[in-house]
Amino acid sequence: MKKILVTGGAGFLGSHLCERLLEEGNEVICVDNYFTGQKRNVVHLLNHPYFELVRHDVTFPFFVEVDEIYNLACPASPVHYQHDAIQTVKTSVVGAVNMLGLAKRVGARILQASTSEVYGDPKVHPQREDYWGHVNPIGTRACYDEGKRAAETLFVNYHRQNHVRIKIIRIFNTYGPRMHPNDGRVVSNFIVQALKGEDITIYGDGSQTRSFQYVDDLIEGMIRMMASRDEFTGPVNIGNPGEYTIMQLAREIIRLTGSRSGIIMKPLPSDDPMQRQPDISLARKELDWEPKVQLEEGLLRTIEYFRSLMH
Ligand code: NAD
Ligand code: UDP
Repeated sequence: MKKILVTGGAGFLGSHLCERLLEEGNEVICVDNYFTGQKRNVVHLLNHPYFELVRHDVTFPFFVEVDEIYNLACPASPVHYQHDAIQTVKTSVVGAVNMLGLAKRVGARILQASTSEVYGDPKVHPQREDYWGHVNPIGTRACYDEGKRAAETLFVNYHRQNHVRIKIIRIFNTYGPRMHPNDGRVVSNFIVQALKGEDITIYGDGSQTRSFQYVDDLIEGMIRMMASRDEFTGPVNIGNPGEYTIMQLAREIIRLTGSRSGIIMKPLPSDDPMQRQPDISLARKELDWEPKVQLEEGLLRTIEYFRSLMH
């Protein structure tokens, strides 16, 4: 039985990860300050004898004996990470320092939930791990993008200088049950709007693209990455290469919900990337991983979840 720390464990992705790690017979310590996550996401795990929930902010040091650390603490929706931009940078950077220090002291493996946002508004398409990205360092998304880039820098340097066993995954847009209904990200916004019969809000003309990955595929990739050979530190892209315009996504969600919602256009937020699609050759080769759940199936499961919240 391994002792595993999951930071941001009460969030959307963290809660699925905690569940999976417990299913596999591990002991899980879930740390969260409930900024965007909620106890509700893990309440069903509270009676599990090997699950522990701790309210803690990762910008402060945390001491615990563990074998592995999954560092997920950080708001992920643009609306939320821009709400307190300074705290977002601190969470990524100071949080990484604290968790890496812990990994170094106890000799734990540590995985960083990095992001496709490190590629910014990419000039290379699809994005491979060796692309350095195109990020505005002073724009409205910089608190998140640059925070995550600095965290990657910290990870590789703890590895080079202190031989900490690190793993970096770059996660592309992921969706599924337990996204917060007011999260502000596109899949949850569109499904909630469609189910309520409200207009679907497209920012810009809807021609920007994203590649959407269902949560179960991501969790599988994360776990395979943690278990991979020591020399493979990443970064590795974990995403679904199926690329859709935001307009296509809106139409698909209207179709799958059977909604009568209309579509309205709103201004495109600044620095909103125009296209995004992962090249997953590296994950295929190193982790023998690829996504299994296609968009329609994943959206149907997610729609069902949001429907259940409304009853
Ligand atoms: P989320 O907002 O649901 O989860 C983040 C969790 O971190 C929340 O529970 C929040 O309360 C917690 N948190 C925030 N600041 C904290 C702090 N200072 N101390 C302790 N806990 C803190 O978002 P998510 O989609 O579950 O994302 C999880 C991780 O995956 C994030 O690091 C995010 O950057 C990364 N990621 C997610 C996606 C995606 O599409 N979902 C894509 C790329 C990267
Ligand atoms: N978006 C949209 N309507 C919404 C929410 C988002 O058109 O109600 C767009 C947003 O401008 C972006 C894309 O959908 O182009 C994905 O946005 P999200 O916030 O989910 O993630 P990110 O931009 O970080 O990929």
